Amino acid sequence: MTRKYLVAGNWKMNGSLKANAELLSSIAAKTGEVAGVELLVCPTAVHLESVGKLLPAGVVLGAQNLSEQTKAGAFTGEILGSMLTELGVRYVLVGHSERRSLYGESDLRVAEKFKAAQAQNLVPVLCVGETLEERESDQTEGVLTRQLNAVIELCGIDSFANAVIAYEPVWAIGTGKTASPEQAQQAHAFIRGLLSKRNATIAGSIRLLYGGSVKPDNANELFACADIDGGLIGGASLKAADFLGIALAA
Ligand code: PGA
Repeated sequence: MTRKYLVAGNWKMNGSLKANAELLSSIAAKTGEVAGVELLVCPTAVHLESVGKLLPAGVVLGAQNLSEQTKAGAFTGEILGSMLTELGVRYVLVGHSERRSLYGESDLRVAEKFKAAQAQNLVPVLCVGETLEERESDQTEGVLTRQLNAVIELCGIDSFANAVIAYEPVWAIGTGKTASPEQAQQAHAFIRGLLSKRNATIAGSIRLLYGGSVKPDNANELFACADIDGGLIGGASLKAADFLGIALAA
């Protein structure tokens, strides 16, 4: 089973019209070097339209969040999936650990967002991962199982035919601490194995990204792991040289 590498930049709450334009033009100058890799950028919601107009060839657009609602209505501050599709958005992050921990998104809410994304033909990038406390008390697999099962129960295993999963250990996000290739591969193999018990074909074809302090100098060994199909990049995606350096490792 060959899976095309995906390297996704999660810009989080960063950027400005000017900074985004500069970043995209630096990326555009070099995308030719990483032709075999799918590149995705996820700017803030207010920047989606302007970034969409400046997207370099070979780079696709993603959003960082969406509403779990499927119809327009009185939901102040929320963004409906169809509004994203209209702007040319193709992927959307769901369940990023910052959404789960800072904005109280439960496993069920994340599953509802996954479903709402697919209802609008958006590909959800489902983020899962354990905290340091959970890892140290041997709960990593239990946490991953709970987070994945919430989506499987609501959306069915077949929904994973059109999705991406990002394994992001919470203790590695923005901390400069990366999971070792062994730790990352073990978690990825566990995730693929869990899906495989329900549908081996889907488990074999779904792309599993690693996220958490990925840098050009550690991307090589992470991406060399059998079950790692790319990365979800936070801080390093804000510098074209680092983002492309990581993509080059894929
Ligand atoms: P980081 O963030 O690369 O800055 O650790 C990753 C993420 O939160 O997706």
